[in-house]
Amino acid sequence: RGKRAFIAGVADDQGFGWAIAKALAAAGAEILLGTWVPALNIFETSLRKGKFDESRLLPNGSLFEIAKVYPLDAVYDTPDDVPDDVKSNKRYAVATGWTVKEVAESVKNDYGSIDILVHSLANGPEVTKPLLDTSRKGYLAAISASSYSYVSLLKYFSPFMNPGGSSISLTYLASEKTIPGYGGGMSSAKAALESDTRVLAFEVGRKYKIRVNTISAGPLRSRAAKAIGFIDDMINYSTANAPLQKELDSDEVGYSAAFLASPLASAITGTVLYVDNGLHTMGVAV
Ligand code: NAD
Repeated sequence: RGKRAFIAGVADDQGFGWAIAKALAAAGAEILLGTWVPALNIFETSLRKGKFDESRLLPNGSLFEIAKVYPLDAVYDTPDDVPDDVKSNKRYAVATGWTVKEVAESVKNDYGSIDILVHSLANGPEVTKPLLDTSRKGYLAAISASSYSYVSLLKYFSPFMNPGGSSISLTYLASEKTIPGYGGGMSSAKAALESDTRVLAFEVGRKYKIRVNTISAGPLRSRAAKAIGFIDDMINYSTANAPLQKELDSDEVGYSAAFLASPLASAITGTVLYVDNGLHTMGVAV
């Protein structure tokens, strides 16, 4: 039986979520996506119009299929959590049932079970501000969208994940080393995500026999990264200083995720896997 994957955090063909979906599809998995509600229309339209066809091309010459796109906003767990101004916002009125609990219920109703859960999303409204200048609201928003969203996804999805299943998130070196420019509490959010990876690995490992790992990825020019503002500097820094002096290709993260999701990684859980050309090993710039 082929595996089924739900990948949260895909709204174009530029980010890690897309690359992971593609690598899992190439390995034979059925692909379900969770797309941020405000980005849903443009993503579905672009998909339908063939804008992503070039990047849908698999090594075997076919285009990878997306079985279903679910609208999702991972900062809300249940409809009760959605504030009135969001409910009435016309960017949110385009869809229904997009809180984490509702999406999980829809996936379960549509497909019964999944094998692979991927969290490839983050948001920090004050990411361009130094931590010292970050408001409490901005800090908590970063943690809510980038860290708790993963706890919530696992809480609602793992009960219908098949034993032996695998869950993966994406993290960044700024959790453990100071990277000026990655502000707004995003460094804190990634530290929480990595710590939660260990605790959740224990909890869902014992309860559901599911593995939980996170990939610490090197810099990629995704939509989210461009919003931070220093992505070109980070890519240049990595190319100059990492053991492997090449630009990271999102497919390299996709393949690593496919490995972690596969039986080849059946004893790996609770870990941070660095897919960053080795940059994290360096203590000085050379
Ligand atoms: P991306 O823009 O492709 O992905 C981020 C996605 O999160 C977007 O599709 C966005 O719509 C979605 N999103 C934001 N808030 C959401 C919410 N409340 N609910 C649902 N979806 C929401 O960018 P990316 O860089 O590929 O990011 C994917 C992951 O990789 C993130 O966790 C990011 O922190 C991590 N990462 C990125 C880099 C990098 O250099 N790009 C490096 C290391 C780790």
